[in-house]
Amino acid sequence: MTTAELEETRRQIIATVREFVQRDVIPQAAEHDENDTYPHELVDQMAEMGLFGITVPEEYGGLGLDYTTYAMIFEELCKGWMSITAPIGTHSILTAAIAKYGSEEQKREWLPPLAAGKKRGGLALTEPGGGSDVAGLQTTAVKDGEEYVVNGNKLFITNGRTGDVFLLLAKTDTEIEPQHRGISAFIAEKGPGFTAGRDLNKLGYRGVDTSELVFDDYRIAADRMLGDEEGRGFYQVMDALETGRINIAARAVGVATGAFEAAIKYAQERVTFGEPIAQRQTIQNMLADMATKIHAARLMTYDAAAKKDSGARIDLEAGMAKLFASEMCAEVTLDAMRIHGGYGYVKDLPLERYYRDAPLMIIGEGTSEIQRLVIAKNLLKQYAI
Ligand SMILES: Cc1cc2nc3c(=O)[nH]c(=O)nc-3n(C[C@H](O)[C@H](O)[C@H](O)COP(=O)(O)OP(=O)(O)OC[C@H]3O[C@@H](n4cnc5c(N)ncnc54)[C@H](O)[C@@H]3O)c2cc1C
Repeated sequence: MTTAELEETRRQIIATVREFVQRDVIPQAAEHDENDTYPHELVDQMAEMGLFGITVPEEYGGLGLDYTTYAMIFEELCKGWMSITAPIGTHSILTAAIAKYGSEEQKREWLPPLAAGKKRGGLALTEPGGGSDVAGLQTTAVKDGEEYVVNGNKLFITNGRTGDVFLLLAKTDTEIEPQHRGISAFIAEKGPGFTAGRDLNKLGYRGVDTSELVFDDYRIAADRMLGDEEGRGFYQVMDALETGRINIAARAVGVATGAFEAAIKYAQERVTFGEPIAQRQTIQNMLADMATKIHAARLMTYDAAAKKDSGARIDLEAGMAKLFASEMCAEVTLDAMRIHGGYGYVKDLPLERYYRDAPLMIIGEGTSEIQRLVIAKNLLKQYAI
């Protein structure tokens, strides 16, 4: 695709997604959020739009778009309702890992149905015992002939109930030091021994499933391991998580923008003491700070995405964008609520939903504390004396 063609494609898809959000997502969001019901029709529409394969190369049935467009799409969707990105979020980590580390056979087998949304997936990394300490995961995959036998539990898994295929992280060597060298990644499809457990009842990010996954003597063919050698899973998932961190940063920008746009409109309508509150300098200061922080987060997100598009590793940039954007989103959604006064706290308006959705960005794909560790580690390497 030439630059001009890419820009035109980007313009068209963003316009299509924006229309979808206005016409279909926003009118349904409050009800799905309140009742915690899965938005099947909306998700099917996203599959028709190709959103399950945004960055999957065209030769494997995807849209073949860049990460900047990917970030813009997540941002647009989240201006309406963050949950609607759940089915395609960790799904895109799975497809990114297969596209980069999978064998040609694995790409041909898995990417076309995943890109079409015929098979849906996610990331099975976090366990009840912990998410931050990836190297300490407890799920095991023991070689038995041409298969591995997997045992263990995963928790907090997005699309855990509705998904079919997961990027599964398990230990193929429990003795090796450092521990992370014992982790391998598998393309694991549900079947005998691999089932979804309970769904979690969440503060926000409602209407979509976050579940437990149970592996009980689950047998998986050895050729479903990603790459051709054991012990590469930690590195593969850290690389794929860059995609996830761009995705989370973009979501944060989208949610914050949705809340900000509601707040600046409301500030001009709401009259107190004979004047719209937008005329008060304290309110203007809040609006100015909110917009400035959103702008900075958006630029950081696009910068990380553009660097990823250039083929570089972006642990530092993605970590910074994710850290800044997620913390910003929590602040901005609270400020938007403040501007709405009491109306911001009740369910008649989407404000309280933006506020409940925001904290997930601080937790998912590595908490803010973990991002700071990643950023500092990269900085110390860069500035080593
Ligand atoms: C709605 C939702 C959806 C999710 N979806 C997925 C998914 O699809 N797939 C998946 O694999 N996971 C998923 N997660 C899990 C998420 O990635 C983890 O919750 C997150 O990584 C944190 O892990 P933890 O909850 O085990 O917290 P812990 O790792 O136990 O951390 C607890 C606290 O300690 C802090 N902490 C931990 N270690 C350090 C340290 N070394 N230094 C300083 N502070 C530290 C953390 O920042 C946090 O504040 C999801 C979580 C939620 C809530």
